[in-house]
Amino acid sequence: MRTLTGISLNAGYAEGPIFVFRPEMPVAPPRTAISASEVPAEVRTFRASLAQTRSDLELVQEKFAGNIDDVAIRNVFHAHIHLLTDPAWIDDIERCIRDERITAAAAVHEVTEQWAQRFARMENPYLAERAIDLRDVSRRVLIALEPACVLPIANLAHPSIVVARSVMPSDMVHLDRANTLAIVTEEGGVADHVAIVTRSMGIPGITGVKDVAEKVHTGERAIIDGKEGKLLVAVSKTASRRYHALARRREAERQALEALRDVLAQTKDGHRVRLCANIGDVNDAKLVPAMGAEEVGLFRTELAFLTAQRHPSEVQQLATYRAMAKAAGPVPLTIRTLDLGGDKMLAYDQEPLSESNPLLGRRGIRRSLAEPRTFRRQLRALLRLGAEHDVRVLLPMVVSVSDVVRAREQIAIAADELYRAGHEHRPNLPVGAMIETPSAVLIIDELLPHVDFLSVGTNDLIQYLLVADRTAAAVRDHYTLFHPAVLRALHLVAQAARTAQTPLTLCGELAGFGDMTPLLLGLGFTTLSMAPHEIPVVKRHLAQIRLADAEALAHQTLRLSLRRPVADEARGEVAPSRPAPPPSLGQSGAPAVQTHL
Ligand code: PEP
Ligand code: MG
Repeated sequence: MRTLTGISLNAGYAEGPIFVFRPEMPVAPPRTAISASEVPAEVRTFRASLAQTRSDLELVQEKFAGNIDDVAIRNVFHAHIHLLTDPAWIDDIERCIRDERITAAAAVHEVTEQWAQRFARMENPYLAERAIDLRDVSRRVLIALEPACVLPIANLAHPSIVVARSVMPSDMVHLDRANTLAIVTEEGGVADHVAIVTRSMGIPGITGVKDVAEKVHTGERAIIDGKEGKLLVAVSKTASRRYHALARRREAERQALEALRDVLAQTKDGHRVRLCANIGDVNDAKLVPAMGAEEVGLFRTELAFLTAQRHPSEVQQLATYRAMAKAAGPVPLTIRTLDLGGDKMLAYDQEPLSESNPLLGRRGIRRSLAEPRTFRRQLRALLRLGAEHDVRVLLPMVVSVSDVVRAREQIAIAADELYRAGHEHRPNLPVGAMIETPSAVLIIDELLPHVDFLSVGTNDLIQYLLVADRTAAAVRDHYTLFHPAVLRALHLVAQAARTAQTPLTLCGELAGFGDMTPLLLGLGFTTLSMAPHEIPVVKRHLAQIRLADAEALAHQTLRLSLRRPVADEARGEVAPSRPAPPPSLGQSGAPAVQTHL
């Protein structure tokens, strides 16, 4: 038996065959020459690959058909299937195989590139966009021609533990959720998209497993222990029995937690805490009533469009948001405007690629304000939804007061446009700011008069305060809540919001770490928004603590965080990136919480 160790992203056990996902596809297949006698076979292979791609696409299209929110995505599939039957493109490729005497893969690539470049040069934006579709379709055909290159995670043959060096957000949306038992990666952080998806799906996840994609093979049987961050390969019978017993116990625990769904979220001494859900797609939205969330605290709209090939229209967006609202049920919805840039890249959006440092580039609200027409398309969809649902608009990556002021101006213009077009809408939706940059923390008093609510995003706030990329394995130990700057920032924001009587939510991944609940409560956060599966877990933690103890803990932690010498960090004794459990409450003496400066 081999044991590979990493860092926990989400607890849980699973056993099954491994599927190694290798997203890297050769951009240009080698220009391999063939003999004249090989030409007919190569043409046949090419035609078979077209048929295969078509049936693959139809399968995926069917899968999305059940997802009412994916109109835009379905249209893209439709366009792609259409392209696969374009006789001119097919003829050109077959001619290239014959005349140039090269393999089908090389010919597909060569002809597609010629066509795409011709399209891209066209003035007509619609035709220019064909270049994207064409390249995408050809990538699929290449995958069908050279299956060894890419084994897509969209259609797993059976329930599997997905292993990869890293997985991009745009790959994650293709994930065959029904057949994914767990995810294990080498590169990643506790607050990155893989972590967010494993928690939203309620499946075990591990990251930081060195060379994992090389050390295991597709088809090998393995057990994952998400809590301990372990992947066991070639498992012995004894180990398998032990893990099955643990898995049964966890299942019983899960059922007990489910029973908490309708129980009020409150501390042992009766202080109410609001527990809300973070959602990104319709699967998450369905969990809102199932897990007893009181609100949707964060709807990450960019996730709904990750696979789109062009920016969705107002009507498409409205359809998506309506579907999400319907699935979530009659609860208030906090919808965040597009948070593009940095590590969040859409298929049709290559801008971050052109930036030397996308994490410090045009992202979030900065990006939306730079593209007001696109921004208003989303705002109009939100204002229209506001006429039907209790909707709040959340602005990501706010760094200055003018971000909010200018966003409000765009909302007013969008409302005016709707008014003129005669569309029903609610012009005065509550507007809030994400507090996820150091500057937003430092100008909190100036921001408050301009917002109706605030939401703290610890995933990014920690990254920017501590100069530690949330997705990078190399700085994982530096990405921690227990740095005095982070603790002080949270405390400062909570106090300022309380003084101004402005509603405040914490919606970073930390909100869903049950062992962090006492500390967050003590720091002043009484509305927490998290992956829906975590809600009952946090509810149970809450029921075991008293507010006064939580406040004492926060006070002590703030003080102690200043004392830990830097050298300890180098020895790796500080809190791991998934923070260490805080001390039990109500004990005398200093808490054993690990802190550092
Ligand atoms: C955050 O930064 O904490 C947050 C909730 O936003 P996201 O994870 O989508 O960047
Ligand atoms: Mg963020």
